Amino acid sequence: MGLTREEFVRESGAPAQAALEVYKRFFREGPSEFPPLAPVPTKSLVTPSPEGEVTKFLLAVPPRREGEQSLETESVVIPMMRRHSTTKTLCVSSQVGCAMGCTFCETAQMGLIRSLTAAEIVRQWYAAHHILTHDIKNIVFMGMGEPLDNYDEVIQSIRVLTDHAGPSIAMGSITLSTVGRIDGLLLLREQVKQTGWKSLNLAVSINAPNDAIRDSIMPINRSMPLDELVPILETWPRRKSGAICVEYVLIPGVNASAEHAAELCERFRGVRCCVNVIPYNPRRDSPWPSPTEEEVWAFLHELESRGQFCKRRRTKGRDSMAACGQLGNEAIRKRKFVGLSVGEGS
Ligand code: SAH
Repeated sequence: MGLTREEFVRESGAPAQAALEVYKRFFREGPSEFPPLAPVPTKSLVTPSPEGEVTKFLLAVPPRREGEQSLETESVVIPMMRRHSTTKTLCVSSQVGCAMGCTFCETAQMGLIRSLTAAEIVRQWYAAHHILTHDIKNIVFMGMGEPLDNYDEVIQSIRVLTDHAGPSIAMGSITLSTVGRIDGLLLLREQVKQTGWKSLNLAVSINAPNDAIRDSIMPINRSMPLDELVPILETWPRRKSGAICVEYVLIPGVNASAEHAAELCERFRGVRCCVNVIPYNPRRDSPWPSPTEEEVWAFLHELESRGQFCKRRRTKGRDSMAACGQLGNEAIRKRKFVGLSVGEGS
C-alpha cells in the first residue's frame, strides 16, 4: 500500500503489464481479491451531525519489532454538505500521538508514540473506501500527528493516494495541515513546485494573533515564531485560485476577543488566506470551555468587517471524541505515566 504503480512494478519483478493489472485490481476491487491484506477496523463509532453521520474508526498497527506495543491509528469520515450534494472527507493520522505539545489538543497529551509509514497512512483510505464503503472525495491530514514531522512518509503517501492506477484522489482534494514547522515548510515549498503538486492545499494552524499567546499554547512557536513563519506563507507558491487555510482554534479567554481578531488581520494582511475559525473542542481535563455561538459569530464578524475572508468550521463528532483535536487513545496516554518511553526520535 505504500508503493506507487512504478515502484510496485519495479519491486514485483513481474512483467510490467501483469504487475500493473494487479496493482490496479488491488486498489480498485478491494479486499475481495486480496482478503489477507484487508485492514479491518478494531472499532468504529458513528455520531449523527446535521450534515450526516460522522464515523471515527481505529485500525490496529502491528508492532514492527519484538517488544514494541501494538498501536492504533485513528481516522474520521466527515460528511460535508455542499450546495447540491453531500461529499465525504477523510481525516487521516500521520503519526500515533504527536510531539508538538499544543496545550489545547488531546493528541498532544499522549506524546509521540511513533510515526506512521506511507503504507499505514494509505491503509486508512483503503479501510474507509473498501471496508466501510465510503465514497471519499477529500483527504485532510488533520488527524493525529504533525505531518511535517514525518515528511518523507507523508509525501510518499500522497504520491500513492494520487496515483491514477491506485486510489486516484485529485491532488486538489488533499490538504496537509501543519503547526508551521519551518524546516518542513521549506522542503514542501520545493515539492509543490513539481508538476502535479501545485494544487496540494496547505493549512497552517496559527491559533493566535501574536507570539506571546502562540508561545503559551503552541511550544513550536518558541523556536519558530510568527516572524519566520508569516514571510514563508506570504510567498507560498500557489496556483491562481489557491488560498492558504489559516486554522484558528477559538478558545474563550485565550485568543477570542475582538482585539485578537484585529491583530490577526493585521499580521496576515500580506498572506492570501482564508481564516478557518474552529470552535475549541474541550480535550479531556480541559481548563477551558468551548466558545458560545455568540463568541464564534462575533469573532467571524470582526474578521469579515476588516475584509478578511473567513469561514467557520462546523463542529462534528464531538460526542465520540472524533472532532478536531480530540483524537487520542486514553489507554495509551495513561500508559505513558507508567514508564513507557515516548517522544523519542521526534
Ligand atoms: N498537527 C497538524 C494537524 C493536526 S490538528 C496541525 O496542527 O495542523 C488539526 C487541527 O485541529 C489544527 O488546526 C489544530 O489547531 C486543531 N485543533 C487541535 N486541538 C483542537 C481542539 N481541542 N479543538 C478544536 N480544534 C483543535
